[in-house]
Amino acid sequence: MKICKNCGSDLVRTKRLDAHDHELGGLRVRLIDSAVRVICEKCDQRAVLIPEHEGLIAAAAIGRVMMPLKLDGSEIRFVRKALGWTAAQLAERIDVTPETISRWEQGHSAISPKCETHLRIVAASTLSELAPAIDVDLMKIGKMQVCSVRESSEPVLMEFELVKVKQEHQKAFSWDTMDEGHMARAS
Ligand SMILES: [Zn+2]
Repeated sequence: MKICKNCGSDLVRTKRLDAHDHELGGLRVRLIDSAVRVICEKCDQRAVLIPEHEGLIAAAAIGRVMMPLKLDGSEIRFVRKALGWTAAQLAERIDVTPETISRWEQGHSAISPKCETHLRIVAASTLSELAPAIDVDLMKIGKMQVCSVRESSEPVLMEFELVKVKQEHQKAFSWDTMDEGHMARAS
């Protein structure tokens, strides 16, 4: 049974939302049929619950590095934080200096194509365990033609849904990207 955090009432209704836009550390995600609106019938307190939040961060980072659009500074920072790494740790993994990471993240210099591919592969392979529903193709990332022209300065919008996956003989929920045809741009 759910209890209202505001008034303690148990007269709480829940409703699964068809689509819910969520801001995730600079990335925008649209959650399809997955987020839950909670409404207290006594005090009218409303909240939206996002299940599997840690998995969503990993899924969003993987979704973004599989998308062939050049990463900007805030996206590089998002991916690094999804990995749980400091700038120094990421720098070591992709063979640059921590100062270089900092320049990319602040938008003072653009990441080179070679480093970007390296970063994408490291991120996708490291995070895939946390987003087992997503089919990560490292070969495809390695050969990806990254488009460096953004059509707008708006954050990229990616769509995700919660699906059931089987892991070690147990069923669990995990975030999956909607197919690329569903990738939408923020408007
Ligand atoms: Zn209440």
